[in-house]
Amino acid sequence: MEKTLSIIKPDGVKKGLIGEVIKRFETNGIKIAAMKLIEMTKEKAKGFYTVHSKRPFFESLTDFMSSGPCVVMILEGENVIEKNRKLMGATNYKEAEQGTIRYDFATDIEKNVVHGSDAPDTAAFEMGYFFADIDLL
Ligand code: UDP
Ligand code: MG
Repeated sequence: MEKTLSIIKPDGVKKGLIGEVIKRFETNGIKIAAMKLIEMTKEKAKGFYTVHSKRPFFESLTDFMSSGPCVVMILEGENVIEKNRKLMGATNYKEAEQGTIRYDFATDIEKNVVHGSDAPDTAAFEMGYFFADIDLL
């Protein structure tokens, strides 16, 4: 079974979408192996998005990600990295397919409701960034 990291970003939590996002995971056969509500400091957000540290949107993105509570989850299932990315939709909600989380709820290229790891190596780093083995069911 594959695992991946999902985040319901601060805009998603503010809009009351925690239940809606989790429902989409569960109805698509994805299991939640760990979950918590956290609030990132600016430093924690910078460390998480370190791959994007040279990008023009880095400052704004890390301000946004540390602007309020978010839900971090480890998702588990067959092919779950790709499956989650499909349910999320494209980074830019204007390019996201109908029926995806970002198509339905994102309002901005930055405030796009959810994060999902994009490959096994990034998933391993990102899960370890928020969870210890002991948190995993
Ligand atoms: N982002 C942004 N402007 C951009 C590209 C990305 O604000 O032009 C933000 C957006 O919140 C995105 C995050 O940075 O989800 C990480 O970007 P990435 O390209 O990794 O997209 P994702 O993997 O989240 O689809
Ligand atoms: Mg990404």
